[in-house]
Amino acid sequence: MSAAHPMTETVPHDYVVDACFLGPYGENDTLLEKLLVEFLRDHVYWRRNFHPEDPPAIATSAARHPDFCAFEARVRRELHQLSAALKKSAPFHSPRYIGHMTSDLLLPGLAAQILTLPFNPNNVSEDAAPVTVDLEIKVGLQLARMLGYPHDPQTDPCALGHLTSGGTVANYQALRLALALKAFPVALRAADVPDLELPPDDWTAFNLSTTASIELLTAWQRWLGEQAPVERHYWRARVEAERIEQLGLTDFFAAHPQLSPPLVLAPVTAHYSWSKGLKLLGLGRHQLKAVATKGMRMDPDALRSALHHCARHRQSVLMCVAVLGSTEYGTIDPIDAVLAAREDVRPLGLDFTVHVDAAWGGYLATVFRNADGSLRPYHEVAAEYVEFPSPEIHAAFAALSGTDSVTVDPHKLGYLPYGAGAFICRDHRAMALLAEQADYVFHGSEPADYMTRYRSIGKYTPEGSKPGAAAAAAYVAHQVLPLDHSQFGRLPRGTLRATEEFYARAQRFAIDVADMAHVMVPFTPDSNLVCLALNPHGNRDARVANTFMAALQNLLKCDPSHPLQAKEFFGSGTILRPHVLGLDEMARIFDALSLDVVPADQGSEDGYLHILRHTLMNPYLVNRESGVNYIDLYFDFLERSVRMLLAQSSLASDVA
Ligand SMILES: *Cc1c(COP(=O)(O)O)cnc(C)c1O
Repeated sequence: MSAAHPMTETVPHDYVVDACFLGPYGENDTLLEKLLVEFLRDHVYWRRNFHPEDPPAIATSAARHPDFCAFEARVRRELHQLSAALKKSAPFHSPRYIGHMTSDLLLPGLAAQILTLPFNPNNVSEDAAPVTVDLEIKVGLQLARMLGYPHDPQTDPCALGHLTSGGTVANYQALRLALALKAFPVALRAADVPDLELPPDDWTAFNLSTTASIELLTAWQRWLGEQAPVERHYWRARVEAERIEQLGLTDFFAAHPQLSPPLVLAPVTAHYSWSKGLKLLGLGRHQLKAVATKGMRMDPDALRSALHHCARHRQSVLMCVAVLGSTEYGTIDPIDAVLAAREDVRPLGLDFTVHVDAAWGGYLATVFRNADGSLRPYHEVAAEYVEFPSPEIHAAFAALSGTDSVTVDPHKLGYLPYGAGAFICRDHRAMALLAEQADYVFHGSEPADYMTRYRSIGKYTPEGSKPGAAAAAAYVAHQVLPLDHSQFGRLPRGTLRATEEFYARAQRFAIDVADMAHVMVPFTPDSNLVCLALNPHGNRDARVANTFMAALQNLLKCDPSHPLQAKEFFGSGTILRPHVLGLDEMARIFDALSLDVVPADQGSEDGYLHILRHTLMNPYLVNRESGVNYIDLYFDFLERSVRMLLAQSSLASDVA
């Protein structure tokens, strides 16, 4: 790749992006302040107009009472202390912050969230949130559209999305739904429901496609709706008693000796929330099987051979997880190949859910989406970048529509406040199986309409009480910036271009410091996350390289004991582990860095390699207005730091 970035010089300034954030310097303070004051007043008027005949409960004179004044003073003192302490926070808003997966907050989202807070809606159900539950379901539809899922609530199948506290809970919800859907046909068989066309044996019942399971569930609901009340009650109870959610894993599998607890296949790069999810579900971490990767992207051959192994041994699979933007490396799994592998093993009787963990990369889908909801062709997207997206990445995003469910984190690339994660499933009808009260029999025989049914979303979600303010923030942000390439897509487009510039600059940096250190980008970036590995010249020992990297990472770390301003940049780090990466990959990277490969010793950190990790989310990294390029500044800083650390350390003697 060439060192210069031909694209960015010709890119016109984007004034919409200028209006999106409070800004690194608080540039849009007047706008935010006006909005906050205006809507605080509006809220107060709302209170006053509720029952204007009610006299004020707090007299104006109360504010002059010594107790009141003393209390106010105490509030102020504590708030001042909090405000002072918070100034030691990580400066997420700054283009000098390239550490974790966060940046400045979208101003419309922030304003909507603050505006909603004093109303304090609780999105557990419409009783507690008459307004914001609807918004949450609409956010689900907005995200479904972005992913290419069906999103018209008038026609089945239609997707359903809801918010969660974050990606961790969304992933857990995916596991719950997949298990419910897998085990339900087995329960129907066990209950011996008449008139329905049931699978011939338990293995087949446990290996229906998602679509076939949902069809069976729908047929059962219809049948139940046709029964007289007494029969309906009887059959419903009978099926309920056979469900895995009722029996628990032990009794369910004891009752079905043909079956054993199913596996979850996920790439080695998968986030640790998957381990949490399997523990929470009671399946146990042992059922989570790591699939090998190539260049930190799931290896379809490894997946295929794992699936064939399962089919041969009649080992069922609950789910295959594909990661769209790995947390540590930003790499994107070949989702199309995962779907193809499932097609491959279907004739062998194996079927499972395909879930995409797009907690990090989900919003990148906006750059692939037209305003009318259609997918943009490869060449059209590619024309906007130097190298992004590879045909493989375009294919991965195009394949999203064929998956069963997706996790997306609005509090990551959605630029919204924590905690806003989201779970979206392709066909909402499956959600009936998660309902806390078994009310998947509707009053009468017709199901309630979509919006009405999901107003009690809390019945379907792992969480109970939930902030309606988060739903309001996401809804308003997505209304102001619709999730297609011409609107929201401006944000990822800008940062993806900055990533290309960063990547090119990293290669130049490698040349600039060649006299002092070996430098490499271990994985070509698939999204706006770039890692960098360094080894001082003359050193062959990974432990020495790691000590050096620890010192470098220290310079980039938040340190509350020092003034924030003493830091030039904020970054993050990660570790390459041989058992995760595979020996070939490890050898490739160690070779490029002139390090000796150490035989990996289980339980010891020998053979590990610490590297830098940069998350490039800030929209103002390359500022053509001020002429400041933070990418250049960062690499200048890195070069200075490397020189300084080498001069200080005993390594200096090793450097030629
Ligand atoms: C961040 C992340 C998660 C976890 O999300 P939280 O919002 O932190 O709970 C899961 N998967 C991936 C790929 C992530 O990047």
